[in-house]
Amino acid sequence: MKKIIITIDGWSSCGKSTLAKQLAKELHYVYVDSGAMYRAITLYFLRNNVDWKNEIAVIGALNNIELHFAKNDTTGQTEIYMNDENVEYLIRDLIIAEKVSEVAAIKLVREFAVTQQRKMGEKKGIVMDGRDIGTVVFPNAELKIFMTADNAVRVERRFKELFLKNPNITIEEVKNNLEMRDYIDSNREVSPLRQADDAMVLDNSNLTMEEQLQKALLWVRNVECI
Ligand code: C5P
Repeated sequence: MKKIIITIDGWSSCGKSTLAKQLAKELHYVYVDSGAMYRAITLYFLRNNVDWKNEIAVIGALNNIELHFAKNDTTGQTEIYMNDENVEYLIRDLIIAEKVSEVAAIKLVREFAVTQQRKMGEKKGIVMDGRDIGTVVFPNAELKIFMTADNAVRVERRFKELFLKNPNITIEEVKNNLEMRDYIDSNREVSPLRQADDAMVLDNSNLTMEEQLQKALLWVRNVECI
């Protein structure tokens, strides 16, 4: 079977990374979580008090950031490293989620991330999830999936995930964060979140994980045979 590029875009917390991991495992593809890159950059900016409204400060900071992904041998999952520090866990915090969409809307930040994302796809055999992967990063990808799910389902999923780390978190906080990120992501000037014209839409509000995988695998098989 020929190796292809699979892009998965969509709203926050609609299961993009779950499907991306399922597909990568099934197809023996590389999985890249593009959101983790924006989250890691945000962590760097917050830690180093980078004034991200100032272009010179942003350029200086980006010059000091090296990002790469490596497999955790215990869990088998790919994790992100920033300047050789494993920041996979830290970047999932709500403090990062509160600021990441603002940082991800900066043109220089996007150029920095997109250049690296395109390099990762050079050999194909990759599943990348995010907001602009099918529209901007890989506009010629063989399979583009746009994911969506009911708002209440998305809020509950993300709440359960964050509650495990922080039992003080409230549903309201999670809901506000998702709404804010979706608004910024779809209204920003540079690479706003859009459904690509040639994307397959997957609404997983009422699908089990297995059902969503099977649906996506059918699309993969169709493309692979062309
Ligand atoms: O995917 P995740 O929710 O971890 O992404 C965090 C944030 O990074 C998103 O809310 C969005 O602001 C930004 N992002 C983006 N473009 C991508 C991936 C993520 O702007 N390709």
